[in-house]
Amino acid sequence: MQVPIVENVLKLNDEIAEINRKALKTSGVFTVNLIGSPGCGKTTLLEATFQRLNDQLTIGVIAGDLTTARDAERLAQWSDHVVQISTGKGCHLDANQVRQAMQNLNLDKLDVLVIENVGNLICPVGFDLGQDVKVAMFSATEGDDKAAKHPYLVQEASVILFNKTDLLEYVRFDLDLFRADVVKLNPHTPLIELSAMNHDQAGFEKWIAWLVQNAPHALQYGPA
Ligand code: MG
Ligand code: ZN
Repeated sequence: MQVPIVENVLKLNDEIAEINRKALKTSGVFTVNLIGSPGCGKTTLLEATFQRLNDQLTIGVIAGDLTTARDAERLAQWSDHVVQISTGKGCHLDANQVRQAMQNLNLDKLDVLVIENVGNLICPVGFDLGQDVKVAMFSATEGDDKAAKHPYLVQEASVILFNKTDLLEYVRFDLDLFRADVVKLNPHTPLIELSAMNHDQAGFEKWIAWLVQNAPHALQYGPA
């Protein structure tokens, strides 16, 4: 009896995700579902991205967290288009929460919407939010086995970010092993190695180039 109930929850989620996707595409918004562990640097990456692109692109953020509006408050210093979702005990965002948050955004003004998912590498992967792409974020402080241990996230991501390269010399992290795991799981997806804290470097510019390249072409993307 329980399996059909779970299936219905996901089916309803997928239906709402399609409604979100249609609304976002109609407004010409390129939408990223950013998925990574707590503390991997998602919000720091977005702060640096705003700093770098505010003159070129209008970026909105929907920030999901269990409690506190700390991330949204940090990001609101850079943009008027920031909405917080408090998930309470929920460990991922679902399409209906994003639907409600979207009602607080003027989609026609946005070029890009980043949905900063709840810090979690597991169930956010299974819930379609209506995004164009999923972006996976790992970091040097999490251990080099995280890609291998979270294959579904790696396989579904359109780009994989590896953050905190500036800390590699201080932590035990086999970068060659991590790279090999990523290539084995998803040989076609770019792996961008960067430091969101020291964002004046080549890796960060690759992320910016990827975002800018994709932003105006949202209508070409199918469901992620
Ligand atoms: Mg955050
Ligand atoms: Zn969850």
